[in-house]
This record gives sequence, C-alpha cells and structure tokens, in this order.
Amino acid sequence: MTARIIDGKAFAQTVREGVARDVAALAATHSVKPGLAVIIVGYDPASQVYVRNKVKQTAEVGMNGFHFELPEDTAEADLISKVKELNGDPAVNGILVQLPLPKHINEAAVVGAIAPAKDVDGLHVVNTGLLASSGGGMVPCTPLGCILMLKDTLGDLTGKKALVIGRSILVGKPVAQLLLSENCTVTIAHSRTKNLAGEVAAADIVVAAVGIPEMVKGDWVKPGATVIDVGINRVPAPERGEGKTRLVGDVEFAAASKRAGAITPVPGGVGPMTIACLLKNTVTATCKQHNIDL
Ligand code: NAD
Repeated sequence: MTARIIDGKAFAQTVREGVARDVAALAATHSVKPGLAVIIVGYDPASQVYVRNKVKQTAEVGMNGFHFELPEDTAEADLISKVKELNGDPAVNGILVQLPLPKHINEAAVVGAIAPAKDVDGLHVVNTGLLASSGGGMVPCTPLGCILMLKDTLGDLTGKKALVIGRSILVGKPVAQLLLSENCTVTIAHSRTKNLAGEVAAADIVVAAVGIPEMVKGDWVKPGATVIDVGINRVPAPERGEGKTRLVGDVEFAAASKRAGAITPVPGGVGPMTIACLLKNTVTATCKQHNIDL
C-alpha cells in the first residue's frame, strides 16, 4: 500500500479561503472587521518568522492585524498591562501572545490575563476547561488543524481507535479531547508508556506530537491507518552540504507511507494548518463577541 499524502499546504489554503469569505460576509452584513493582535517578546528567530507569517496571512484574509514587538527585558507586569489594554479594545477580537516567553516571565500568568473570549490560541484555563467538559470554548489551533485534516480525510471518525502520542497542554491533551468528542476510542501515550509499538499497531488513527525525530517506526503502523505527524524536528543533512539541516517529523515518513492509508508530510502537513486555524478562531471569536451567527 502507498499512503495518500495529506497536503496540509493546500488544505490550509482552502481553510483561509473560507475565512476570507467569512470576513467579507461580516463586513457586508454587519460592518464588522475581525482584528487579531499578536504580541511577541524578545528576538527568538523561529518565533519572528512565525509571527511575520501570521501578520501577512491576517492581511491576506482581510482582517485587521495589530502587531506588537516588545523587547526581551519587558517586565511581566508591563506585558500583562498590554494584554489588558487589548482585552478592552473593541477593534481587537483575538489576542495571541507568542510562546515561549523569556524565562523571567510567567507564561501562565500572561495567558491567564487574556480575556477568554479573545483567547484565540485556546490556552486560557477557561477554554481548556470548556474543552475538557461541555465544549464551546476556543480550541487550540494546532489540535484544531489535526481534527480538520482527519475529518477531511476520513469523514466520520466515530468508533475509530485513535492513539495520541504526547500529552502536552498545547497539542497532545487537546487533540485527545477533540478525538473523544468525535466519538473515537482514544489512547494517550507518553514518555512512560510501555510498548509504544504495540499501541501504534492497534490504532486506526495515530497523532504523533512528541518532538523526537522519526521515533515512530514505519513498520509499527497498522496497514491502512491515518497518520498525523505534528512533530517538527531539525536534523543534520550532510547530503545537502556541510552544516545543512532539514526538517523531519516524529514519524519515519518513507517507511510509514508504505503501510498507512494516509499520512501528513513534514514539512507541509500539520504546520501550515496552525495559522489557518488561528485565523478561523479569530472569526469564531468575532462572531461570538457580536452575537452573529454566520
Ligand atoms: P512537549 O515537549 O510539550 O511534549 C512532548 C510530549 O511527548 C510529552 O507529553 C511527552 O510525554 C511525550 N514524549 C516524550 N518522549 C516520549 C516517548 N519516548 N514516547 C512517547 N511519548 C513521549 O511538545 P509539544 O509542544 O506537544 O510539541 C510536540 C512536537 O510538535 C514538537 O516537535 C513541536 O515542535 C511540534 N509542534 C508543531 C506545531 C505545528 O505544526 N504547528 C505546533 C506545536 C508543536
């Protein structure tokens, strides 16, 4: 079997086109323009690239973008004041504070200061609590992207055996909760799991979110399974020249694609979905704040 490669770049483009249509409809019918504020503290190069892409894509879908670059030595209290100012700004419907923050700042305190209704990253405890209980809050972007891709690939997920590898607040736990609400039978594996190979072999759906290059071996994958690889790992690539690197996922892609029914590549799989889902969440937040049913 050769797996269908799930094209995250193309799918993210489709999601963004849907967002752009919603933004146009909000302007035409309600004279409302969604606004997304992104705050970055310090000079982490990877975060800078990511934030630049967010700003560009926000403009492309027709939203207002507000971009704040604060110095590395920003005090926690000053960052929280900025967040509170944006909470009270009616032109801002979504607030994202780029993580990680410099070590002297308590991330939980900053995320906790964001108004839950504007928390488009879905990390405020009100939103994580809603996800774990009744639903209806803001859903974290990368997990939302995983679920949209799975539903697009498989349709109804009811009854599927799903394995999530990783239990982080950012990815693993919310993915598992979303799969549960799609009526999957969910197993969560983590660093203390025994017999990971056996867990993978039993799963119809595998979502790998670990951060260890190619740790899920291709021959563990159940024939026909759907594999979503969230991992982004930079590894040396001497074949490309001295000092060169390349990105790989948490799954051994070449071997797994010989057994899986469908699989996401790295790069070009889950990665592009994250910003698309951030924009989608900003429209959702805007509609809720204005009591609009699009
Ligand atoms: P994390 O470090 O917070 O969590 C990793 C998880 O992996 C932990 O829960 C840990 O228990 C588990 N783990 C560690 N070793 C393991 C092992 N040997 N077997 C099974 N489980 C093991 O990482 P994270 O923030 O959840 O991110 C995971 C990966 O996803 C990283 O590579 C990250 O770069 C990537 N990521 C990608 C996107 C995106 O595509 N947009 C977004 C977020 C994270």
